[in-house]
Amino acid sequence: MTQPKITLIGGGLVGALLAQLMATRGFAVEVFEKRPDPRRTGFNGGRSINLALAERGLQALRTAGLADDVLQRAVMMRGRMVHPLEGMQSLLRYGVDDSEVIWSVSRGGLNMLLLDAAEAAGARFHFGQGLVGADLNARSIRLIDAGGVQRQHDASVLVGADGAGSTLRAAMNNYQPLGQRIEPLGHGYKELEIPPASGAERFAIEPNALHIWPRGGYMCIALPNTEGSFTVTMFLPAHGPHPSFESLPDAAAAGDFFRQDFPNLLPLIPRFAEDYDAHPVGGLSTLYLDQWHVDGRALLIGDAAHAIVPFHGQGMNCGFEDTIVLADLLAEAGRDWADAFAQFQRIRKPNADAIAAMALENYVEMRDSVSDPRFLAKRELGAR
Ligand code: FAD
Repeated sequence: MTQPKITLIGGGLVGALLAQLMATRGFAVEVFEKRPDPRRTGFNGGRSINLALAERGLQALRTAGLADDVLQRAVMMRGRMVHPLEGMQSLLRYGVDDSEVIWSVSRGGLNMLLLDAAEAAGARFHFGQGLVGADLNARSIRLIDAGGVQRQHDASVLVGADGAGSTLRAAMNNYQPLGQRIEPLGHGYKELEIPPASGAERFAIEPNALHIWPRGGYMCIALPNTEGSFTVTMFLPAHGPHPSFESLPDAAAAGDFFRQDFPNLLPLIPRFAEDYDAHPVGGLSTLYLDQWHVDGRALLIGDAAHAIVPFHGQGMNCGFEDTIVLADLLAEAGRDWADAFAQFQRIRKPNADAIAAMALENYVEMRDSVSDPRFLAKRELGAR
C-alpha cells in the first residue's frame, strides 16, 4: 500500500516538529517553506530571538525523542526575578524546587534542530518556496521561488503551519469562510540585548531566571541565552500618550525614558541607541477562528490557527502540543482526513481559546507584578 501523503506549508517551529512526527509515523511528508534553509544561510526568524519552553512543549519534544537534545542547548529559569523601580530585586520561584522550571531556548537553534530531526525521519523540505495560493477544489497549490517564478503543485491534503499571517488560511477562508477575527493588542514590542559579561561571570545578571522590570502600563523582560547574553524585550503601547512607541520614536527620546524608568537596566545595554533605532517595533494580536479546517482537504495548526499574545510564553508550547494530538489522530484515522481534522479541532480549540484569554490577562498581571509579585510567579509555567 502507498504511504499516505501530506503537504505542510511552513517549516518553522510547529511545521518542522509536525513533519518529524508524521514522517516517523509512516507518512510521506513534503514541506514548503518560504525562507531559505537556515542551516545554510543563517536563521532570520524576524521575531523573538529566544523563547520560554514550558512543560506542554517539553512533553511534545519528549514524544518526538528530542527533549534531551533541546535541553542541552537551553538555559533553565527557576522563577521570575522582579526588578522594581526602587528597592531590591527578588526571585519568585515557579515551584518549591527545580522540578518546576521553564527553559530559555534559541528560536533559530531550536528550528534548525527540528529541521535536522524531520529530515532524518524522512520528511522532504523545499526551501525558498512560498505558498501564494491554493485551489482546494482542484487540490493544487501555487508556489513562488526567490526569483519570483511561480509553479503549480498537486497537494491532496494540506496542513498550514505558516504562522500568524498564514497564506493557506486566506485561501481556505476564500473557499469557505472560517469565521476569522483578529484583535490587535494595541501594544508592540522591541528587542534589545544585554551582552555577555567580560569577567569570570559569563552572565551580567542572574542567568537562571526570567527577568522582569514591571512598570504598571508597560514593562521590560529578559531571557538568558546559552552564550551569556540576554534578549531584552520592551513592551509598550504602540500609540497614544507618553510613554508609547509613538512618543519614543528614536533612541534619544527612549534613552531619557529608560534613564528615568529603567535606571538599572540601561547600563546593561551598551548598544541601546544603535539597537533601539535599528530594531523594528513588532505588533501583537490574537487570532480567533470558528473553523480550523476545510473538510479533509486542509487544516491549520500552531499560530496559523490560534496566534496569541506572548505573555504566557505559551504560543510555541501550545503549537507543539497540537502536533502530538494531530499526529496521533492521523495515525489512527488512516486516510479519514476529514474525521481526524474535525476531532483535532474539537480537542484543541477549547485549549487554544483558554490560553488566548490567559495570555491577555497575564500581560496586565506581569506589568503590574510590582504591586503583588507573589501571586504571579507560578503563571509562566502555564501548563499546570
Ligand atoms: P511561525 O514560527 O511563525 O512559523 C511559520 C513558518 O511558516 C515560518 O518558517 C515562515 O517562514 C513560514 N511561512 C510563512 N508564510 C509562508 C508561506 N506563504 N509559504 C511557506 N512558508 C511560509 N511562544 C512560547 O511558547 N514561548 C515564548 O516565550 C514565546 N515568546 C514569544 C515572544 C514574542 C515577542 C512573540 C512574537 C512570540 C512568542 N511566542 C512564544 C510565540 C511563538 O513565537 C509562536 O507561537 C510560534 O513561533 C508559532 O510557531 P509556528 O510554527 O506556528 O509559526
